[in-house]
Amino acid sequence: MEWVVADIFNILMPSDCRVCGAAMAALARVRVCEACVARVGPQVEAVQDVLCTRCGDALGMESARFAAAMGVSECTMCRLVPPQFDRAVAFSNYEAEMRRMLHLLKFEGMRGIAEHVLGDGMAAAVRRLRESAATELVVVPVPMFAAREKARGYNQARLLAEAAVKRLRRLEPDWTLRLSFKALERMKDTRALYALNPTQRRASLKGAFRVADAEAVRGREVLLIDDIMTTGATARECARVLKSAGATKVWVVTAAKAQPESVQSVVQHETESFAMWDASSTQPICIVQPEASRQVRF
Ligand SMILES: [Zn+2]
Ligand SMILES: [Zn+2]
Repeated sequence: MEWVVADIFNILMPSDCRVCGAAMAALARVRVCEACVARVGPQVEAVQDVLCTRCGDALGMESARFAAAMGVSECTMCRLVPPQFDRAVAFSNYEAEMRRMLHLLKFEGMRGIAEHVLGDGMAAAVRRLRESAATELVVVPVPMFAAREKARGYNQARLLAEAAVKRLRRLEPDWTLRLSFKALERMKDTRALYALNPTQRRASLKGAFRVADAEAVRGREVLLIDDIMTTGATARECARVLKSAGATKVWVVTAAKAQPESVQSVVQHETESFAMWDASSTQPICIVQPEASRQVRF
């Protein structure tokens, strides 16, 4: 239970902001200063760009012009290989203070980040779905592999889900939000997807999740919560199994969204298709769909 020690240490020992180093009052609930919290802004304001209305990727200047001219609002990837989630929104971009905060939450035992630093932002991100999502939602955090959760002592996605739901019950009293921690189960330890090559990523995600309680999701809309969306592969796989278990819609809300321009990788999807990005482009340079023996180049 390392986090207990870490949390007590964080509360009792006067120290500096764990993000920027500024001095802080000794009895702060969490060692992140107000200035750092204030610098993490909503994703829509941070990105000087048009976002894909499905997955939240920045379209890029050229692509945004193209999309406007063609009357489309989704990125190339979502149009060519549509995800099974209906829409993904994030509180903020994965950069600067947010990157550090998520690191503190996940790897340095600072559970309080979820409740006291990111809770309001998570609730605000969920509220962006109010025009499209049902008011009755099953809230499902992306599960961790059991042994890994035991070692960490908590699942950060669950803490974020609880923090968001706590606020939404006050902000949206007409909504019915049911937290379900057992609906989805992680069957494999899919660590560090971003570090894997396409073959490893495909193998890693295959059978990674299963719906353990189909009753909880059948005929319902699911709100899937995670800390970060990078390539979208995890959200796609969770949405796929949730929909095949009868979920009518799957909405995805994450604390942060990493934009693909920094992801020099090949992205694997559940359809066995994949896209390649280069480091300087927000557009896939190539999408391969082996099932259809089709290759689309850009
Ligand atoms: Zn600070
Ligand atoms: Zn998209």
